Amino acid sequence: MSTPFTEPAKKHLGQNFLHDRSVIDKIVQAIAPQPGDAIVEIGPGQGALTFPLLKKHGEVTAIEFDRDLHAPLQAAAREHGTLHLIEGDVLGVDFTALAAQLAPADGRIRLAGNLPYNLSSPILFHALEHAAAIRDMHFMLQKEVVERMAAGPGNKVYGRLSVMLQAYCTVTPLFVVPPGAFRPAPKVDSAVVRLLPKPAGCIDVQDRVRFANVVRAAFGQRRKTLRNALHGVAGTALIEAAGLRPDARAEQVDVAGFVRLANLPAED
Ligand code: SAM
Repeated sequence: MSTPFTEPAKKHLGQNFLHDRSVIDKIVQAIAPQPGDAIVEIGPGQGALTFPLLKKHGEVTAIEFDRDLHAPLQAAAREHGTLHLIEGDVLGVDFTALAAQLAPADGRIRLAGNLPYNLSSPILFHALEHAAAIRDMHFMLQKEVVERMAAGPGNKVYGRLSVMLQAYCTVTPLFVVPPGAFRPAPKVDSAVVRLLPKPAGCIDVQDRVRFANVVRAAFGQRRKTLRNALHGVAGTALIEAAGLRPDARAEQVDVAGFVRLANLPAED
């Protein structure tokens, strides 16, 4: 069958299109759509994941920024199921409002996507803002990013992304995908990761903004001691009150330690 997609891949939109059938099948199996689920795909591109998801589930909402892809996607989707295409920037999509609109049984959407790698972190932080409206997320990202997301203290790639995500979600790397699975092939390995937002009662962070500020400052200069890196954000007494050593470095502090510190009332 001839393809309706005629435009070449756009590098500035992170377009690396998946073509490896076995990888696509593994992602769909990992998502395992169930009747009544509201599946929301970020960056459907030329439909590599969208169409198999439509075949399995019948209905998918997808958010695509590239206007050259909108008409061909809609046209090609028809034979597979019902595609609701949101034409625009995923960072402008209010997932909480979308969940209310799609109204799945448990009120939460399921996010999936082979993400544009240049926007991975902004998309992850955007999703975190709406974590209460999201049941789970299955994302393809650079392998190195997935390693950072899942790392624990003491690991050299443990950092702000690890702490911020793990405070709100359970992070499970699923499998690695080689460059040859995409066209054009990226220069790096990729990996698929599952994020399960924690139920509200299991999130210990009391003030999200304060927590984000403490973590940002602590890792802003990761070679510095907490005492120095947190200057102006949390003093020595507060660091000690949280059970942390002021001469420790951020990379040695676990997620619970950052949560305890951010939960203490800040000094004047
Ligand atoms: N899902 C397709 C696949 O697996 O072949 C395409 C994946 S490609 C890595 C990323 C997709 O995200 C592209 O289609 C790109 O146009 C789209 N994209 C880039 N920036 C976006 C944004 N800000 N909002 C929504 N989609 C975006």
